[in-house]
Amino acid sequence: MAAAHKQLHDLLVQSSEEIDLDTIAWQVGRLRIEDGGLESSEGRIVVLGRSGGTIRVKQGMNPGRRRFTIAHEIGHFVLHPTAGLEKSDTSSSFTVWKDASEEAEANLFAAELLMPEFLFKARCRGPVPSLTTIDKLGADFQTSTMATAFQYVNYTNEQVALVVSEGNQIRWFPRAKDFWPRIRTGVLHPYSAAGERLAGKAGDTGKMVRAPVYAWLADFENDQERDIMEDSRYLDWYDRTVTLLWMKEDLSD
Ligand SMILES: [Zn+2]
Repeated sequence: MAAAHKQLHDLLVQSSEEIDLDTIAWQVGRLRIEDGGLESSEGRIVVLGRSGGTIRVKQGMNPGRRRFTIAHEIGHFVLHPTAGLEKSDTSSSFTVWKDASEEAEANLFAAELLMPEFLFKARCRGPVPSLTTIDKLGADFQTSTMATAFQYVNYTNEQVALVVSEGNQIRWFPRAKDFWPRIRTGVLHPYSAAGERLAGKAGDTGKMVRAPVYAWLADFENDQERDIMEDSRYLDWYDRTVTLLWMKEDLSD
């Protein structure tokens, strides 16, 4: 996402602490950031021609989500310039990442603005994959869990995939480039930890746990022997379950 890198380059950003959204918002188009004044939406941008505009964020969001929301609105301004730009975003806007919509574009821009490859990639290399690892990265880069998980899968060299499900339906699953198996589609398997959580049999896993390969991977229906690692957590703000899958042992024969 070169448009995001350009903003950071112009400000000579060299560390995540230097990614100052107030300054970037002003730099791109005299945008001011204000908290509150929103009822149904999480974020909103209103632009009044060349005189600038306002980004509003809902009051009471945690700092990481607040920053991601602001970065998303900056993304709309940079990527979707129109006279009298006016956009409102609800939490569902922040769950769209892979289609051709403006929401997905704004999310990709925001992820790359807050977790640019030149700062983030090296930090993904080394720690054992888990949602706790992602939490730590999200805290260091001051951004949301969902965005951090997406960016982690993009830049890690581990064989991981992120599966996002809504209710018991698997919605989408970005995979790291070395994660070669096909992931099952449709309904969460009852023998996955995410499925057990949904059935009320267990809570969030809280760490990587073993699940049978056939619970997550297509083409492994008859493999009763092997496991895949899974860390699953329900994110109430998005009403989605996120699962980090990890092929700890190579599954190719
Ligand atoms: Zn949006």
